[in-house]
Amino acid sequence: MSKVLFSKEKIMSLISDLNLSLDVVNINKFDKEVTIDLLIENFTHKSKSEAKNSIIKQLSSNFNSKLIYLLNFKPKVKNINDGTNKLNNVKNIIAISSAKGGVGKSTITANIAVTLSKMGFKVGILDADIYGPSMPIMFDLVGRKPLAVEVDGKSKMKPLESYGVKILSIGFFTSMDQAVIWRGPMATKALNQLIFDADWKELDFLLIDLPPGTGDIHLSIIQKLSVNGSIVISTPQIVALADARKGISMYRQENINIPILGLIENMSYFNPSDEKEKKYYIFGKDGVKNLADDFKLPFMGEVPIFQGLRESGDIGRPGALQEDSELSRIFENITKNMIINLTERNNNLPPTEILKIKTMAGCS
Ligand code: ADP
Repeated sequence: MSKVLFSKEKIMSLISDLNLSLDVVNINKFDKEVTIDLLIENFTHKSKSEAKNSIIKQLSSNFNSKLIYLLNFKPKVKNINDGTNKLNNVKNIIAISSAKGGVGKSTITANIAVTLSKMGFKVGILDADIYGPSMPIMFDLVGRKPLAVEVDGKSKMKPLESYGVKILSIGFFTSMDQAVIWRGPMATKALNQLIFDADWKELDFLLIDLPPGTGDIHLSIIQKLSVNGSIVISTPQIVALADARKGISMYRQENINIPILGLIENMSYFNPSDEKEKKYYIFGKDGVKNLADDFKLPFMGEVPIFQGLRESGDIGRPGALQEDSELSRIFENITKNMIINLTERNNNLPPTEILKIKTMAGCS
């Protein structure tokens, strides 16, 4: 077969002839190297490697065989927000919860957020853990306050930004040593402001760090926002698992019905650096995996106990930012699973209906 001349348009059309579920977003040629950035719907390893093989075969048989192709895949996130969630520029809202406090929900939220940002997504965190907001510390934003900006004649809060993640937290409005003992209605009012008086701009993902338990704040969020899916975090410890069951049941209630994207196990084991082959299951073994099996829910991954994860949280630089480390690989894997499960959810289910609390006749 005679070879055709290299051109970006020709690459586009050759790839589009393959009818793969992906988009070409960028092509660069430097000497013999051709870099192609693609958005793929099915972000699994199998699907990426099949797409890669057929694209390289197609291009090599058409162009000069000396060219080298480098393919970068990013997941394509479908926007199913039909306006229901009232945050029109936010494509996906994910609620991250734990039934128990201190199991690492905020740590995991922060690390998923920076991993999404490293992958090139626009990410925001709404720290709704109104009773113990940790995002100001975890993102090195203690003492900082969001500025007011004018949007369409209204004054809005501009989220603070750290490591590419936009953040709003009730912790920006209270001093860190001041105990936040809010009454239900006050907490709800503060939360409303964080949600609706904020200028999030465009986001692919808004992660909501919920307080532990299944209380007012949860109800308040699901009455206002169409949450695409939720993630439940637990340690494998029996007392934590018992609470996690309650959390799962809440999302599954008929009138709430928020799809659960999966469960994450934190503090799965401890692996001392000087005994690499040893794993100590301090909080028990496989508890969350078994819970996921029981409820037929996806298990999204496990995070061991890392001193570095605790330290990085305390100094305000989420551990997953460390390139090419064990920690960053663990969070990349969890984040990819989250995207795969979210894509499946978005492809198969309509937007989540906002919870409507039934009122008694005559009351509103
Ligand atoms: P939650 O949001 O569930 O209350 P946090 O994320 O604040 O929990 O975590 C509680 C404490 O445990 C923090 O000090 C955090 O740094 C630490 N921590 C969380 N996960 C891990 C882990 N996998 N390894 C080591 N320390 C962890």
